[in-house]
Amino acid sequence: MWQATRRKVGWAQLWGHPAFRGEIGSLDEWHEGMLQGEGWEAAIVKICVLASGSSGNATFLAAGRTRILVDAGLSLKELTRRLAAIGEDPAKLDAVLVSHEHSDHVSGLRVLVSRHAVPVFLTHKTAPLIDWGEANPAVETFQAGSRFCVGDIDVASFTVPHDAADPVAFAFRAEGVRIGLVTDLGYLPESVKYQMQGTDFLILESNHDLEMLKVGPYPWAVKQRVMSRNGHLSNDVVSEFIREEMDSCTATLVLGHISENNNHPELVRLAASQALAARSLRTRLVIAEPRLSTEVFEL
Ligand SMILES: [Zn+2]
Ligand SMILES: [Zn+2]
Repeated sequence: MWQATRRKVGWAQLWGHPAFRGEIGSLDEWHEGMLQGEGWEAAIVKICVLASGSSGNATFLAAGRTRILVDAGLSLKELTRRLAAIGEDPAKLDAVLVSHEHSDHVSGLRVLVSRHAVPVFLTHKTAPLIDWGEANPAVETFQAGSRFCVGDIDVASFTVPHDAADPVAFAFRAEGVRIGLVTDLGYLPESVKYQMQGTDFLILESNHDLEMLKVGPYPWAVKQRVMSRNGHLSNDVVSEFIREEMDSCTATLVLGHISENNNHPELVRLAASQALAARSLRTRLVIAEPRLSTEVFEL
């Protein structure tokens, strides 16, 4: 069980910690505390992108006493395996949040909630589109664009342009850290860019390389759908966002939902690192490889 929500940390670690900003009046006050041997405790937010892409999406987020899963696009067996690998357990989830009804985000939901009593949060319009089968989970519906709390985690939902009934992305705030999780969208409207401002940790889609998509194996209608304003973000759009608008406070950028047919993780890395270099940003870049969990991030 993950109890280490608070731990003693060293100077350098705490000084750079977003939760630390504004919590102390001055360096002298901080130094005083250290001299008195009190030390300081920093909260930890734990994040792991368990899966990202058209073969399944699921992200684990824990803060304080609260553990949530965003999307359940893995089988229960695979979800359980990947959670166990990071010391977690589906039985201990406090909630599952669902971004939209596409199967890569909900294919494991019914079995998960039939085996474990975990409440599901999703929008009013998405809820009726889920095939619950025999499962009868506690369902909490919300309006796209609304804010709510799940235990110790503040959640802001916002509408994204995507070809689903009522798709949303999320910005979380917990322990003074702001986290964005933005995938499955055809372009970046101002409203979405606004939500990504001030995020310390941002998970963003970089779905396809336009040239690979154009010459790739998909039928033309599917190519058009992916490229449309209700489809997915290209590497080029993400690079432009990094060059021109990404908040310099974003310390970690995780790029995911990478197409296995129309993109390559190294292309994503190259385009994004060039864009970061062009702005002299020291943001840490992480690529969420299709079919693999990322490392565990502790903030
Ligand atoms: Zn998706
Ligand atoms: Zn989708």
